[in-house]
Amino acid sequence: METKKVLIIEDEKSISDIIKFNLAKEGFQVETAYDGQEGLTKALSMNPDLILLDVMLPIMDGFLVCKKIRETSTVPILMLTAKEEEVDKVLGLELGADDYITKPFGMRELIARIKANMRRMDFVSDLQDAPANVQEFGNLAIDLNRYEVRKNEVPLELTLREFELLKYLAERENKVFSREQLLEEVWGYEYYGDIRTVDVTVRRLREKLEDDSSDPKYIMTKRGIGYYFRRP
Ligand code: CA
Repeated sequence: METKKVLIIEDEKSISDIIKFNLAKEGFQVETAYDGQEGLTKALSMNPDLILLDVMLPIMDGFLVCKKIRETSTVPILMLTAKEEEVDKVLGLELGADDYITKPFGMRELIARIKANMRRMDFVSDLQDAPANVQEFGNLAIDLNRYEVRKNEVPLELTLREFELLKYLAERENKVFSREQLLEEVWGYEYYGDIRTVDVTVRRLREKLEDDSSDPKYIMTKRGIGYYFRRP
């Protein structure tokens, strides 16, 4: 198996050092950056398999770094947030982070989360060899096997989680799911988030799929209950 590269963007050297030490011990190749600008530059040049991204960073904060990485890349981003930054978790997810972990965290938990996120990416790269299984929904063509979505023939850049949510709903057309059900079915046991995560992911999906995200035609809200997918 090829060596996986992890980029740590964290300005506190003591934290960065201990993470680096533990990840290296696990067999990862580790790069470090100590401010947001350096982190962004390395994220785009070294093509990491996963990024650990602190929120409070000099020069450019973690949110902006996350947003800028997402303009060109779907690399898994695991955000490191402080305990009191509850609001920030939602903002991080909104900007396209895949997961977050709250400081202080144990190394064992961090490594488990890194591996879980990488397994998900390996799973996606294996999908490229799968036979196509395209289903058409209005202007959308969703390849349920290869995790690809096209709108009017143009490929859309979805994160894995966004695709998994879309697939789950599209395969169960017109059936309404509560946010709690979706969190359990789509995010699963690996996830420690709250139900706002579902709203944030739906919002991001709508921005990508819909002509007008404030007047959705695919992913619908059932007020007071949850969400469902319908054919426009
Ligand atoms: Ca920091």
